[in-house]
Amino acid sequence: CGIVGFIGNQGAKEILLKGLEKLEYRGYDSAGIALSVQGDVQVFKEKGRIATLRESIPADVDGEIGIGHTRWATHGVPNKRNAHPHSSHGGRFTLVHNGVIENDMLLKQEYFAGVEFVSDTDTEVIVQLVEYFVSKGLEVEEAFRSALKELKGSYALALMDNESPDVVFVAKNKSPLLVGAGDNFNVIASDAMAMLQVTNQFIELMDKEMVLVSSQEIVIKNLQGEVVERAPYTAELDA
Ligand code: GLU
Repeated sequence: CGIVGFIGNQGAKEILLKGLEKLEYRGYDSAGIALSVQGDVQVFKEKGRIATLRESIPADVDGEIGIGHTRWATHGVPNKRNAHPHSSHGGRFTLVHNGVIENDMLLKQEYFAGVEFVSDTDTEVIVQLVEYFVSKGLEVEEAFRSALKELKGSYALALMDNESPDVVFVAKNKSPLLVGAGDNFNVIASDAMAMLQVTNQFIELMDKEMVLVSSQEIVIKNLQGEVVERAPYTAELDA
């Protein structure tokens, strides 16, 4: 399993698919990507290998920004419905997740009693929680942090918001995740190998940190919302 994200101005599709191919060794029962195409988020996902996903995406589709996932199922069988990205029921938010949420059932009971979920994953409740906190009046960043505070377990997450299409919200706890810094773009991935195609400048993330990633900025914060300063390092790795 692995996640990847690209926040730039063009060509997101190929960078995501190439990144996912590099992550395939981590698990590959299904895969998907979400692309922001001039502010409109489109989701493509398939059971099977990245090659199957690649074939399912029309050649003329591309985006400026996107997130991708290769899944190794822990909750719910490998199929298209359970494949990531998962969307909030209102459709505003789109999320990919690696790891295992241990209290997903409790969260569903507490916040979403009687609500039908689309998938059988532990992941869907996270994207639902973000939308829930936004519906209660919180700004997206605050809603994302509030959702993170509710989670028990491991996660590497990337979230897209239809209404702020130039930023990807990222977070990590006990699952690997790195940010790659570029010129007029930034990337994220579970493994530096997936980003070497575009950069060798990386920023490590600590557990329980979140990041606001745009094409120009990488802002790391802790779960209290305080900014954490951390400079990139140059990796000596062969692609
Ligand atoms: N627990 C999530 C699921 O089963 C994510 C699995 C993964 O890390 O690929 O969908």
